[in-house]
Amino acid sequence: MDCQTLIRYLSDYIDNNLSDDLAAEAREHLATCRNCHVVLDSTQQTILLYRQRGQQQGLSPRRHATLYDQLAQALAARPPDECE
Ligand SMILES: [Zn+2]
Repeated sequence: MDCQTLIRYLSDYIDNNLSDDLAAEAREHLATCRNCHVVLDSTQQTILLYRQRGQQQGLSPRRHATLYDQLAQALAARPPDECE
């Protein structure tokens, strides 16, 4: 799995919505890619923050899309040196 694929599946990974195969591939990538690990970390913290603010329904689809855009931009801005 490469970084772009990982980011595409990230929210599903966090929500445990991936198939076993995909989840295993995502875990494997996260174990070796520091950039994606950092992105996963900050995403989880962001989601936690929203939930702590009382939005217990989780992220709205629109909020999800915005978050995804921000993550994609953040990843694109990073030098790809540590990624396959
Ligand atoms: Zn990566």
